[in-house]
Amino acid sequence: MGNHNIVIIGAGVVGLAIFSELAKRYRNVYILEKNANIASETSSRNSGVIHSGIHYKPGSLKANLCVQGNNLLYEICKTGRVNCQKSGKITVARGNFEINKIKQLYQNGLRNGVKGMRLIESEELGKYIPALEGDLGLFTPSTGVIEPKELADFFYSEGLNNGGTFIPNTYAKEAKYENGKYKIKGISGGREFEISSEIVVNAAGLYAHEIAKSLGLDIDRLNYRVRYFKGDYFRIEGKIPFNTLIYPAPQKYGLGIHLTTDVYGVSRLGPNSYEIDSIDYKINSNAQEFIESVSRYYPPIKNYRISEDFAGIRPKIILPNGEGGDFIIREEGQNGYPGFINLIGIDSPGLTSSPAIGKYVADLIGSFEK
Ligand SMILES: Cc1cc2nc3c(=O)[nH]c(=O)nc-3n(C[C@H](O)[C@H](O)[C@H](O)COP(=O)(O)OP(=O)(O)OC[C@H]3O[C@@H](n4cnc5c(N)ncnc54)[C@H](O)[C@@H]3O)c2cc1C
Repeated sequence: MGNHNIVIIGAGVVGLAIFSELAKRYRNVYILEKNANIASETSSRNSGVIHSGIHYKPGSLKANLCVQGNNLLYEICKTGRVNCQKSGKITVARGNFEINKIKQLYQNGLRNGVKGMRLIESEELGKYIPALEGDLGLFTPSTGVIEPKELADFFYSEGLNNGGTFIPNTYAKEAKYENGKYKIKGISGGREFEISSEIVVNAAGLYAHEIAKSLGLDIDRLNYRVRYFKGDYFRIEGKIPFNTLIYPAPQKYGLGIHLTTDVYGVSRLGPNSYEIDSIDYKINSNAQEFIESVSRYYPPIKNYRISEDFAGIRPKIILPNGEGGDFIIREEGQNGYPGFINLIGIDSPGLTSSPAIGKYVADLIGSFEK
């Protein structure tokens, strides 16, 4: 690869995982970030859950990268630089429709290679978590929690230690392909800037489709235009007497309002999922709705006070049939832009998958560099 530049746009946890992996393999790796700090958007506004891989369609990138990422994250935590906990999770069904969904998750899990799952009959749920109620449960022991900011810091310092360069306060406005090179133009520290590169990785999260569009790609034909689904969180005041995560059966565009406890013992309810047109992080939901929703499977939640915490926004690909789409991770050679890699629609389980995405993108670059 010699002295060519590689430029990554976006220092969320996914861009940083790619940064860390590419800096091990190549010289001249740069990561541009419009904010002053790393991981200050979706990567720090999520549930921090290390997903097992039961939710995703077998054979999809989400399924494969989540299951690989789950293992890789627990390995990273062994370094002692990132806190995580293998708390385990119970997904609970209410009624026949949800029972079927749970059975489907179990089958997905088997096909995706998720280890140690167990279906739990209604009368046994209380043995796992006192007062937990439902008609069927699915226990996944490999689910856990991780501190997202510490994970981002880990990838960031790995990338820097291996010779990569972080360029903060640098907004990439557009990317153009000219004479076999990409020119990325924008504003850096209040001034116009330009950087050129043979390889570009677009990991701009909520804005990735805009960068793809600036290049000249037809984002509607390619179905790259993401839609925004916001999720609000409420923080539980007081201590919940268990660490196991509890989820309802998944919904159309989200996993349902769950009860999780993070690595520092803070418990939360959330997120819900509603579509928005433009990005803002204001909480629009009602605390009582969250309590009602969680009390369907954990009635004692009614004895706790909850307060507004934060909101996050999922960049979602919606397929023509109305279903949520897979991650798009694609080198655009076939569309006339060789060496340009787009990552679009990296919603959940993007945090879990991040170390596997880092390796996947580095291998992709390696495959056309030969
Ligand atoms: C409510 C919610 C809950 C979730 N829960 C989980 C979970 O429990 N487990 C899980 O695995 N995943 C979860 N996810 C998904 C996970 O958070 C994301 O997949 C992941 O954080 C995506 O990381 P990213 O780096 O792609 O995006 P981002 O974190 O959005 O990073 C993109 C970066 O690019 C920068 N950027 C954008 N445009 C430009 C530009 N033009 N120039 C320069 N920089 C730019 C941004 O400032 C940002 O820092 C959840 C997501 C949400 C919204």
